Amino acid sequence: MARKIGSRYTVHQVIGRGSAGTVWLGEGPDGPVAVKLLREDLATDQVLVGRFVQERAALTSLDHPRVVGVRDMVVDGDDLALVMELVHGTDLRSRLEREGVLPPQAAVAVIADVADGLAAAHAAGIVHRDVKPENVMLDLAAPPGPGGAPRAKLTDFGIARLVDAPRRTRATRIIGTPDYLAPEIIEGLEPRAAVDIYALATVLYELIAGFTPFGGGHTGAVLRRHVTESVPPVPGLPDGLWRIIAECLAKAPASRLRADELAERLREQLAALAGLPPLALPAQGRPAAEEQLTPAEAVYAEVETGSGAHRRRRGPAVPLVSSPAPDSTRDTHTSLRRPSPEELAGYAAQSRAQRAAPPAAGHRRGRQALVRRRRLLAVLLAVVLLLAGAAAAYAAFAHGSGAGGSGAHRPGAHGSAAAHAATADRTVANGTVPQGAPGAVPAAAGGYRPVPVPAANH
Ligand code: ADP
Ligand code: MG
Repeated sequence: MARKIGSRYTVHQVIGRGSAGTVWLGEGPDGPVAVKLLREDLATDQVLVGRFVQERAALTSLDHPRVVGVRDMVVDGDDLALVMELVHGTDLRSRLEREGVLPPQAAVAVIADVADGLAAAHAAGIVHRDVKPENVMLDLAAPPGPGGAPRAKLTDFGIARLVDAPRRTRATRIIGTPDYLAPEIIEGLEPRAAVDIYALATVLYELIAGFTPFGGGHTGAVLRRHVTESVPPVPGLPDGLWRIIAECLAKAPASRLRADELAERLREQLAALAGLPPLALPAQGRPAAEEQLTPAEAVYAEVETGSGAHRRRRGPAVPLVSSPAPDSTRDTHTSLRRPSPEELAGYAAQSRAQRAAPPAAGHRRGRQALVRRRRLLAVLLAVVLLLAGAAAAYAAFAHGSGAGGSGAHRPGAHGSAAAHAATADRTVANGTVPQGAPGAVPAAAGGYRPVPVPAANH
């Protein structure tokens, strides 16, 4: 069924669904196009529409063979659409899920292409901010590159920035996908070009190893690893390539290569990597089930996924490398509460302590302690309610007998009991019960000190 978008474009059929909207096959004055219709909640957001218009010039002027070109940006009634070059192919995430890791040479060729695209963007002052396999398209219509690798194009430029309008992202929140987030973003610095290099090196690592260097398990643990842990080596990877990856995953943004340098250094490796088969590594470097959660990491339990109608809050167990699932349910873009400098300092200390501690101690500090904490909270709540009920019943009874008989069921007495119970409920919910408060419990039960958990900033 055809549908008009603005005065110049017609869309025919859905060719993909993503977190920001639906992608349609369409037709424009210059031939076929891909049209991304942004989700309704984004399209009706006035702040976002304003940004959309502001960004139009920058995004449409970015014209490079290794970038999926934005031809036009259309605001038409409630429709907000990005008109893009149509790519005949697939995205890199789908390719990874379908066929597994790439031979190192093909991986390097794909990433060198993306680095070319990034170099052009960075030269134009545009930072992508959401480089990940989902945003790399493989152009299967183009003649293959070195080693038969498909040519790659980076897409979704500016989308992170668009969706990340000031009203949507308060100062304390981070927008991005946890596995690919550069440490300086987690520490609260303004994202500059080097964040894209860090993310791209993470993608290269993932294409070769099958998992990201810092991903797996709880979001808080992933963020902490970005900030404090060194990159786990990939066994069997040639030294020259490893040095490039390690350099681009440096914690200090200034130590990373620039995009043009990265492309060049990668291409220098191509000949040496010819014929190297895909590395046979264990499926996942970090088994999520064994992930130990420190109390401070639990602060990150508040995770919001930005997928419109599917927007929901999740508990501590967040799958970070998205599982094979249809596009529409893929949570690839995550909004996280940014930790304070004190929390980050705490992480570093805890991280060191955790590495030094024997594994058994780690187990005691894990999920079980959280479960115990929740159970205790439930018991406390029940006891407080019971006491409140008993007090109210007693008061009603005393009042009733004093008045000479039938007062126990008077509405007033009932009402006050309910009000009392409600107050008690609120007190517990706010965590202000003076004794046995949640933070104090695990000290006895699990052996860790209470950590002040700041109020979540929704
Ligand atoms: P989002 O970034 O909102 O999650 P994507 O950009 O990943 O959405 O788009 C979803 C799907 O639509 C992609 O996986 C891809 O299959 C398809 N798609 C996106 N852009 C294009 C394009 N320019 N040409 C062809 N197909 C596209
Ligand atoms: Mg995308």
